Formats: sequence, structure tokens, C-alpha cells
Amino acid sequence: MAVYITNTLTRSLEPIIPRADQGNTLSLYTCGPTVYSYAHIGNFRAYVFEDLLQRHLQVRGFTIRRVMNLTDVDDKTIRGAIAAGLSLAEYTRPFKEAFFADAETLRLLKADAYPEATDDAQIARMIAMISTLMERGHAYQAEDGSVYFRIASFPNYGKLARVDLEGQRPGQRVASDEYEKEAVADFALWKAWVPEEGAVGWESPWGKGRPGWHIECSAMATGLLGETIDIHCGGVDNIFPHHEAEIAQCECAGHGEAPFVRYWMHCAHLMVEGSKMAKSQGNFFTLRDLLAQGWTGREIRYALLSVHYRASLNFTMEGLGAARTALARLDAWYERLLEAASAADVSDTPDAATEGFFTALDEDLNISGALAVLFETVRESNRALDQGVLTEPQAKGLVDWYQRVNSVLGLEPDQADDVLPAEILQLLDDRTAARNAKEWTKSDELRDELAARGWLVKDTKDGQKACRNTA
Ligand code: AMP
Ligand code: ZN
Repeated sequence: MAVYITNTLTRSLEPIIPRADQGNTLSLYTCGPTVYSYAHIGNFRAYVFEDLLQRHLQVRGFTIRRVMNLTDVDDKTIRGAIAAGLSLAEYTRPFKEAFFADAETLRLLKADAYPEATDDAQIARMIAMISTLMERGHAYQAEDGSVYFRIASFPNYGKLARVDLEGQRPGQRVASDEYEKEAVADFALWKAWVPEEGAVGWESPWGKGRPGWHIECSAMATGLLGETIDIHCGGVDNIFPHHEAEIAQCECAGHGEAPFVRYWMHCAHLMVEGSKMAKSQGNFFTLRDLLAQGWTGREIRYALLSVHYRASLNFTMEGLGAARTALARLDAWYERLLEAASAADVSDTPDAATEGFFTALDEDLNISGALAVLFETVRESNRALDQGVLTEPQAKGLVDWYQRVNSVLGLEPDQADDVLPAEILQLLDDRTAARNAKEWTKSDELRDELAARGWLVKDTKDGQKACRNTA
């Protein structure tokens, strides 16, 4: 069964097929955070989408080699460091640490490598790549001392974003890392040092300076994953100029005809009241803002995950509330199943319809279809439990299925939920003692006491089990 995705390059649905010499392995490069501030949850929408992609591909038997870069030198990080009166490293360090902490809170799988643009080995690779581009006539040093990519030397420039180069005046240049499509022009590969950038700079054949944002990703991606990468992801705002520039640099500095990337995937934006959530708009929430309001990482993950990656997601507190309700429903159902399956030795394969969860995701990560199968299964099995007709092996089959589902969704109950507060543990111990002494009245009183504190107790063959009453 193939996994189909929408390739931004061809604008069509394509099956993901590994390269002939790569076995089941797919390389995945995902543009990481620019660490000039805390990542906002719009950024995390992109990372959660990439996490869903990786997890689903793994469930389908692929081995993923994944790299996510950290952009720790660019226009924005330098501006921030100067404003704060700190070195670039001092300024970016807390944002790097926060990014990893947030990624863990959102249950994102770890990449195999997180290269940093300021790493000496990466800078050396960027310089080597720019040298190759110079040698081949794809780049030139301008009178401002900076080195620019000559887009007129690459006829395929514009193939990803489908920009029209007609009317383009040769030699127009743009030094900024981010610019509009209308400004399509030669972009900076190496930016000559200027006094305002203080201590930030590296020696190069073109004098002291620092890399442009686009060459950073090109060098880190091909340096760690090879000249051709299977899947490259980001948000739609990365298509132009960033990914267009990455293609130009890599395909002009490479050895052969091989494309830089085989499948491009981009997620739509997280929106707030009709505008893209962005730091520059001031309409953003960081993960810590939402945690401080009492939302959990798991609830935020659900809210970000539950809308198809190519549809824009309107961020609202109601959406988070709906995530909370949906998760409570799943948790209560799963508890019931665990209880019903507790004595089962064998597991019955669930109804064939449950495979629909995975086949929906095979179709361009159709999460709405997948969640529809999940909730339909919850509804039906709850009904069977109510009627007392769900057998133990059937319940166990569903428990196993939900664990497979969660290897993709990553929505299993929080560990913290499983940790019992000390007072509850004490009441449970007292109840065990009462039962061992056959003091049934006392045992029942203790059960009522636990219920009054919001905990349900069930007696199973392995002893009593307590769970929070979510009803
Ligand atoms: P940045 O830190 O700005 O380089 O962005 C990191 C990632 O977040 C990139 O893949 C962006 O495309 C993505 N991104 C930024 N803003 C949003 C948004 N509002 N919705 C979805 N993805 C976004
Ligand atoms: Zn990038």
C-alpha cells in the first residue's frame, strides 16, 4: 500500500517511492526554527504536521533519516542579539533550549540531527558550496562585497513557486533573506560584513561576512543527507524565496542531473482572525502562553494535528476546548477497553473498517478521514460495552489497535495522569487492607470516598485500578 502525498513541485498527488538503492529508507529535511525568539504555535503547526508525516511513514514500514536545522544566524537573530547587547550565541541559546523543551511537550519525534548554521563545519560547507557556484558562473561578488546567486544562470529558477521570470531585469539584487515574489532577483549567498553587525562574521575567500539564510539550509541538508533528498517540508511561506533558492543553489552546485528534492511538502498557515500567525503581526501565542493558561501539550498537539495540513487552520480557544473534549472521550473509552480486556490472553483482530484509519492517512495524510474512523470505532465499541457484548479478546484487539493508532497520533494519555496523588494512594492502600481483612463495608466506604475525590476504582484480577472520573 503506497502513501500518497501532494508534491508542491508538480501540484499533484504522488506515491512516495524510495530510491532504488535506498531500500526502505527515506531522507527527510524539515526547515527548523529561526532562534531569535520563542517559536509560536504557527511554527509548531509545521512541526506537528512533519511529525505526523514521519510517524505515518514509519508505521508503513519506512525508515526515516531526518534532519532539522536551527537557523542561528540570519538577519533576525543578528538584529535581536544587537538590540539585547549579547553575543549571537548568548542570545540564541535560550531559544534553542526552549525549542527542544516545547518539541518534547508536543511529543514530536526527535530528528537524527539538528545542525546549527553557526557550527564551523557547516560554515565551511556553505563556503565550499558558494565557491563551487562561483567557479561555475552561478554566482558573483558585487561591488557591495556580498556574493549573489545569478538567477539568470539557472533556467529552472521559479519551478517550485511557479514564478514568472519574464520581464526580469538581469542584475537586480536583493540582500534581505525574505522578500516578496514580485521582487524576484539575485539573492545573497554571502553577505559582506558591515559595522552594524558587530562581532558576527567569518573569514571567507570574499572577505569577512556571513551566510544568507538559503545557503544555510542547502549546505546543511545536502551535507548530512546527500545531494538528493527524498522529502523536504516547511510551511507554505517557505516556498518562495527560501525553497526556490535552495533548489537553485543545490542543483547548480551538485554533481549531476539529480534533483535536489524528490517530494516537496508544505503545510498551510495557522491563522488568527484571517491573518497568518506571525511574530511580525503580533498576533501569536507561544506554547508557554497556552500552557500558562492551563492547556496541556497533548491538547495543543491535538488541535494542531486535527486539521488537514494543506487546509488553513483557524486558531481559537474553542478549538482547544474541542480538543480537550475529544481527548477526554478517547481516554474514557480507552480506560473501559483496558478494563474489559484485562483478563484476555488472546486478541481478536478488530473489524476491517478500523484499518481505514491508516488508509485515510495514506491519502495525503487525510487526518479528518482517519479521526472519523477512530471516533466511529469508539462509538461502536462503547455501544457494545454498554450492551455487554464486547468479548475480552475483542477488547484486547481494540487496545492493540489504539496503540498502533497512537504510534501515529501520539495522543496516549499523559504519564502525569497515571501518577496517583499521595492521598489517593493512601486511600487505595487502606482499601486493599480492608479487602484483605474481608471488611467489605469499610472497602465500600473507601470506594465512595475515592469517588467523592474524583477517582473511580475497579477491582480486577490484578487488584484494584484507579482512574480519574472524566465523565
Ligand atoms: P521560521 O522560524 O520563521 O523560520 O519558521 C519555522 C517554520 O514554521 C517554517 O517551516 C515556516 O514555514 C513555519 N511557519 C511560520 N509561520 C507559520 C504559520 N503561521 N503557520 C504554519 N507554519 C508556519
Ligand atoms: Zn530552510
